[in-house]
Formats: sequence, structure tokens, C-alpha cells
Amino acid sequence: MSAAPKPEILAAFEAAKGFMPLGEGLALYAAAAEAAALGLPLLEVGTYCGRSTILLADAARQAGVSALTVDHHRGSEEQQPGWDYHDPETVDPVVGRMDTLPTFRRTLHAAGLEDHVIALVGRSPQVAAVWGGPLGLVFIDGGHTDEHATADYEGWAPHLAEGGLLLIHDVFPVKIDEWTGQAPYRVYLRALESGAFTEVSATESLRVLRRTGTGI
Ligand code: SAH
Ligand code: MG
Repeated sequence: MSAAPKPEILAAFEAAKGFMPLGEGLALYAAAAEAAALGLPLLEVGTYCGRSTILLADAARQAGVSALTVDHHRGSEEQQPGWDYHDPETVDPVVGRMDTLPTFRRTLHAAGLEDHVIALVGRSPQVAAVWGGPLGLVFIDGGHTDEHATADYEGWAPHLAEGGLLLIHDVFPVKIDEWTGQAPYRVYLRALESGAFTEVSATESLRVLRRTGTGI
């Protein structure tokens, strides 16, 4: 049976601001618990307010590894003022731009998971370029343009250990509306076509692939 989060972790997840639905969250947790058994860190691209981070962090804690999460905290294109996914509460009134870092910190504090997460604040390709170690899991849930999704894949997938899991969120094989976008779907296809990954599962828009070869 796949691992499931305890009620207090689920409660913290459901209370957190963010974009991860429960069903996909449970699939994320199960994959994270499996990957954490490799004994390597788990990495997320796209922290936002820490909703999905809670699940990665709890799975990491159970296995005694760290969860890493990367975000510049200024929001994706579709989260900016005037766009469909904008939340006015995420705007820093002093700077006049989005800043999801304070809410993320509150989310982790409320969940009791601060000690298990390393927050990397910066642009995903820049962080990936200086990252040196192997990872047990890479969860791509950052920007939805082709530029960002491709850079996340190219930057982070090569750091996945053999047997590690690549998770991609917001994979929509059929275009739903103007906002959802299909860049994550194209990245998913590219990963499969590379021959380095084998599909493990699909839960709504979450795809789980295992690194089974080289040549990313
Ligand atoms: N995982 C979150 C949702 C992430 S939303 C949840 O469960 O709710 C996508 C996030 O990706 C945004 O916070 C945005 O700031 C971040 N992002 C987009 N492009 C990025 C980039 N190139 N580098 C770092 N973060 C990026
Ligand atoms: Mg997402």
C-alpha cells in the first residue's frame, strides 16, 4: 500500500493557500515517500505558499532526508495583478510586487515542518546551475510558459539519481482553456521521448516518471 499523510499533515495541507488539489496531493505524497527511501533530498520547483511543500516535507521527515523548494516568490505570469490566478493578499504593499515568501514561512511554521525544508529563493535555472548533488525526486510545478517549464526540466532532471522520480504537475494532453497552457505536457512528452524515463502513474494532471536510464 502506498504511504498516506497523517490527519494533522492533511489538515495543514488543506488549510494552506495554493493550487494543489487533494487527490493529486495524495499521489504526490505517495511518490515522495517512495523516492525518499533512496536517502537523497527531494526537490520542488514552485513553492508558492507552501501547500505542496508540506507533503514533500513530511515524507522527507519520515525518511530522514531534506526537502528543497525553489521559487523567486514573485509569482508566475498568470498570478500577477489583473490575471486569473491573482490573489491580492500575496502582494507586498511596500514593494508593490507579489511576495509569497512570508505566507510560505507561516504555512511551514503552522505545519511544524520548518526544520525539514530548505527554501531556495531565486530563479529556478540559476539555482539549478549551481546545484551539485544527486536528488531522489524532482517535482516540476513552476512557471507554465515553454521557456520556464523547459528550463526547469533541463536544469533539474539531470540531477535525478537513477531510480529517482520526476513529477510534473499541470499536464493537460487536451487544451482546456486559455490559461492552463500545455508546456508541462510538452515537457512530459519530452521526458518520455528521451528514453531516460518510464511512466509510473498519472493522477489527474500529475505525472510520475522514474529515471531508468541516461540521455536526458
Ligand atoms: N506548488 C504550489 C504552486 C506553485 S505555483 C502549490 O502547491 O500551491 C508556481 C510558482 O512557481 C509561483 O510561486 C512562481 O513564483 C514560481 N515560479 C515561476 N517561474 C519560476 C522560475 N523561473 N523560477 C522560480 N520560481 C518560479
Ligand atoms: Mg501546479
